[in-house]
Amino acid sequence: MITEYIRITDSNMEQLDRAAKALKNGQLVAFPTETVYGLGADALNPEAVLSIFAAKGRPCDNPLIIHIAEAEMLEVLAADIRPEAKKLAQAFWPGPLTMVLKKAPIVPPETTSGLDTVAVRIPDNEIALELIRRSGVPVAAPSANLSGKPSPTLAKHVLDDLNGRIPFIIDGGACRVGVESTVLDMTTKVPVILRPGGVTPSMIESVIGKVVLDKSLFNAQTVDKPKSPGLKYTHYKPEGEVIVVSGERSDVVEWINKNVVRDREEGLKTAVIAAYENTPSYNVNNIIPYGSIKAPEDMAANIFRIFRDCDDAGIEKIYVEAIPWTGIGIAVMNRIEKAAGGKVIQL
Ligand code: AMP
Ligand code: MG
Repeated sequence: MITEYIRITDSNMEQLDRAAKALKNGQLVAFPTETVYGLGADALNPEAVLSIFAAKGRPCDNPLIIHIAEAEMLEVLAADIRPEAKKLAQAFWPGPLTMVLKKAPIVPPETTSGLDTVAVRIPDNEIALELIRRSGVPVAAPSANLSGKPSPTLAKHVLDDLNGRIPFIIDGGACRVGVESTVLDMTTKVPVILRPGGVTPSMIESVIGKVVLDKSLFNAQTVDKPKSPGLKYTHYKPEGEVIVVSGERSDVVEWINKNVVRDREEGLKTAVIAAYENTPSYNVNNIIPYGSIKAPEDMAANIFRIFRDCDDAGIEKIYVEAIPWTGIGIAVMNRIEKAAGGKVIQL
């Protein structure tokens, strides 16, 4: 299959028409959102949805998020929508909040992996919204990466993974948020954050009161040696081994410096992903700043791209400084811990 690559700017939105038509006709289109690039298909067309799983190599038991352009569409896709869900939609849509609700019969089981719930959001990206509007269908879209790879935050990443496997890639530049949406289960009495993202727990609580983080988010194993593979938790994984290091700043720098020197003696290619402020403290090379400690949103925007850059450079060991579990830092730490197979070196 030839993959058509379309670069969209504010002034050539009409170029979306062919891709929108393809979507409507059951084909796959990769497109930018504010979180990461999505791989879209008509959410109500079972065959189209199944082709998403095939193109990504995604296990069929991992349900998809449906992207819509107008909040009214929620009423078509979901049932028993409680008032808090409507409040959240009003507060955060368009934006990186996905809500899980009871599904309406119109949504095929292929989209929800057989669950009786459905995940829905409105993305905050004009190209995504325009594509959805022009297609006239709700768009099921997981991240547009090969399953297991870091999520794509540039169209180039999509091309690297899916060239020849899908008919269209829409290039709309870099994704602003850089980590996937917050997934909030609204079917329980106290809503549960299943995946942390750009909309933080305190932002949600300011609108509807108490929410909790899913227990599985606290599964990181604290270890004193970075060797044991915690495969069970590995997910957003670069090729190289990821080692997350948490503790006092000076301890973290010293520990990483020491370990990198040892790795280099063994001939390993290493990288250190560090807060911008800490980079001068390292005395080894290949230090990659992922943002200021004061701006975890920049770290979110950069982390997946840096993981992919490390892969391109053949890095074998990637040391990452942990950041505080607050605000969007929760989402950043969640992705980093997953990339590390759930292991954190606690100093
Ligand atoms: P992705 O778009 O690749 O980031 O994957 C979609 C995420 O949304 C996955 O983590 C799914 O488990 C989650 N998700 C989608 N639908 C549901 C649902 N009905 N219930 C719970 N989680 C869901
Ligand atoms: Mg994904």
